[in-house]
Amino acid sequence: MEKIQNYINGKLVEPTSKTYLDNVNPAEGKVYSQIPDSDKVDVELAVTAAREAFSEWSSASIHFRTEVLNRIADLIDRDKDILAMAESVDNGKPVKLAQHVDIPRASANMRFYATAIQHFASESHQPDDQFINYTSRKAVGVAGCISPWNLPLYLFTWKIAPALAAGNTVVAKPSEITPMTAFLFSKLCVEAGLPAGVLNIVHGLGGKAGQAIIEHKDIPLISFTGGTETGKRIAATAAPMFKKLSLELGGKNPNIIFADCDFDSAVKTSVQSSFANQGQICLCGSRIFVERAIYDRFVKEFISRVDRLTVGDPSVEDVKVGAVVSEQHMNKVLNYIELAKDEGGKILTGGNQIKVKGRCENGFFIKPTVITNLSYNCRTNQEEIFGPVVTIMPFNKEEEVIEYANSTAYGLSATLWTENLKRAHRVSDKLKSGIIWVNCWLVRDLRTPFGGMKQSGVGREGGWEALRFFTEAKNVCINVK
Ligand code: NAD
Repeated sequence: MEKIQNYINGKLVEPTSKTYLDNVNPAEGKVYSQIPDSDKVDVELAVTAAREAFSEWSSASIHFRTEVLNRIADLIDRDKDILAMAESVDNGKPVKLAQHVDIPRASANMRFYATAIQHFASESHQPDDQFINYTSRKAVGVAGCISPWNLPLYLFTWKIAPALAAGNTVVAKPSEITPMTAFLFSKLCVEAGLPAGVLNIVHGLGGKAGQAIIEHKDIPLISFTGGTETGKRIAATAAPMFKKLSLELGGKNPNIIFADCDFDSAVKTSVQSSFANQGQICLCGSRIFVERAIYDRFVKEFISRVDRLTVGDPSVEDVKVGAVVSEQHMNKVLNYIELAKDEGGKILTGGNQIKVKGRCENGFFIKPTVITNLSYNCRTNQEEIFGPVVTIMPFNKEEEVIEYANSTAYGLSATLWTENLKRAHRVSDKLKSGIIWVNCWLVRDLRTPFGGMKQSGVGREGGWEALRFFTEAKNVCINVK
């Protein structure tokens, strides 16, 4: 059985304890590879390598860093089908989705920051003829980058690309639930000639390897994407050490459909934004609010489309919904469906595990589930479920739906559908969400700041924000007279 290796100081190595964890293919419910069960000894080796590589990497020419990162992007493009298949096996998502979204976006992350760093300017201010202030921004040191399982290579590269482009060295930990593409990525880094120690990847459990990264005194900045509860723990450890922190956390995103929307586009995209990646995208709209005038029509058309989604073997071409990521996660989602029933919810479709025939008979599949008849403030509509489950609720007035939409502890993203431009602006202005899509969903412009409000996160990633996060600003004020 394949053994995933850590990537430390330019080499693929075993964990020092020589112990491994099982890696399960969720579509088959079967162990298919082994993951290093790394601990603080491995993290220490990774930090040492990263510290030693820092001086040379941070002072290398921007041109050199650009070239190496672009070479890695080229290799991702070359191996896109292998990576997409690996991501699908690790995560349960349809191969087609990985081919069209995850892997191209991973390579785009590398390419974007490889070139963004060339245009990253520092500011200069001249208050009068006597003084000039200029700001220099330099790499900070060793960055700790921790990523989740839902978009494994996409979110892994989203963090490490700006960290490396800005001249930091990195100790990264991908999710122990989906480590394979980061392992394949480490091989591409070797092939691309990334200097030893610049990127180190330590695989293993969050509470062990991850915690050791957060606690390490020589890692001054942490970029984390994952659950809000984990984020709280990380902040509690890192804040007293005065580490620079970027936290991208959970969501409970509203999808608001006004009666004046382009109905067909709204329904079609809402099906995607509810169930893409089995509903396991932090930006999925899990609460659909529909203006009462079109509520019945919307529900009918939505259910008819959801029932046509093919659920099953993620390697099959026309499958739209694959397996959820693990048995534990499947049970969590099914428990939430039970909670929804207890709270008076009416299951219009789905609500159960699906048994798929053949190779995937032991896999973790849930039928896309649509629930109505719930109040906006019940637990089902307040807590993140992170699976193929959406609720639909009617509303009468704009002010009312804004209140519903903003009622959770989260504030990651929102989608709204209306042909009324003034309303689009007005409602967007009042929604407490880090990103708002109007008449579209999941469109990405890497130059824009990305991140959540409230308990969905602290700080912003994307564009210059990420390069600012991964650098330290110093102001120099010169008296020129
Ligand atoms: P998680 O918090 O369980 O794990 C995320 C990562 O943190 C994993 O690598 C894990 O090993 C590590 N980890 C766990 N405990 C740790 C600790 N004590 N110290 C250091 N690292 C630790 O999250 P998950 O289940 O992998 O991912 C799903 C969550 O991620 C959802 O809540 C989802 O909304 C969120 N998410 C947010 C965004 C965003 O951009 N805001 C994007 C994707 C996913």
